[in-house]
Amino acid sequence: MAGDAIRIEGLRKTYGGQGKAPEKVALKGIDLTIPQGSVFGLLGPNGAGKSTLINILAGLVLKSAGSVEIWGFDQDRNPRQSRASIGVMPQELNLDPFFTPRGALEVQAGLYGVPKGERRSDEILEMVGLADKAEAYARTLSGGMRRRLLLGKALVHRPHILVLDEPTAGVDIELRQMLWDNVRRLNREEGMTIILTTHYLQEAEEMCDEIAIINEGELVARNTTSALLGELDARTMVIEPEATPETLPDLEGVEVEERGGGILALTYHAREMRAEDVLDAVRAAGIRISDVRTEQPDLEDVFLALTKGAHG
Ligand code: ADP
Ligand code: MG
Repeated sequence: MAGDAIRIEGLRKTYGGQGKAPEKVALKGIDLTIPQGSVFGLLGPNGAGKSTLINILAGLVLKSAGSVEIWGFDQDRNPRQSRASIGVMPQELNLDPFFTPRGALEVQAGLYGVPKGERRSDEILEMVGLADKAEAYARTLSGGMRRRLLLGKALVHRPHILVLDEPTAGVDIELRQMLWDNVRRLNREEGMTIILTTHYLQEAEEMCDEIAIINEGELVARNTTSALLGELDARTMVIEPEATPETLPDLEGVEVEERGGGILALTYHAREMRAEDVLDAVRAAGIRISDVRTEQPDLEDVFLALTKGAHG
């Protein structure tokens, strides 16, 4: 069996308050293992702590407590090996404006101790679609081109693990396609482990074998994508009755919530039940329906449901 690409135990991060800003606990004790060879999605709403976790892996942010193992190397005991095992494309477009793409790749390769003869700047520029911008100054590059360059920089030392922090937030379709094509190819052909953060559920569904969801610095779910999706097929039917119901609908697998004013919200799982069955149960309770609408959970609801579950 393949080992773990990443092992995180009891990971905590508290940002120190600056000036009058209070302290912020961004990670509250995360345990997480990520298998080698997977495409792993880290999901969570804004402020959940995704970038903090990624930046700790990248060595850009110092953890407050806990342990991090990258490709079997403890980050504290073997900083050099653990750093060499991972390449990170950060969320922030932090590029030196005075380097050209080729220069930036060369400098990055130098930082990672890649010998001149083993550098492959041209190949990488070609791969990320920047071959014709090789000598342009970074400050003249568009946001999309900067993102391409950041991907390239993450790859100069041929890491076992590639981490992408919100790679597709606000990018155009062409760039998104380029990113996903590269990610898929690196995973399938080079066996690279891929970790990406996103708040697009759809994207995680398409790309990832396994998903972890974090919310307010805590891990609230961790499963294969298919198992997690099974939990996400909830539908809510909101019924406005003609009169306040005397009895509530009673059907196994349907959760009934009273919303005031006689309005009922019935939540069921679309794969287990048809809307028709739910309506039948409503009518069977003697309720005449004045109006009906449906609600589908978006990621925000899913987070809410999962966080509620996590706290019991
Ligand atoms: P995400 O990437 O999931 O949106 P972040 O890891 O960026 O979340 O942020 C998690 C929390 O930590 C947020 O409340 C954010 O405001 C806070 N935070 C992030 N970076 C800093 C920092 N450098 N100083 C203080 N607070 C920070
Ligand atoms: Mg972030």
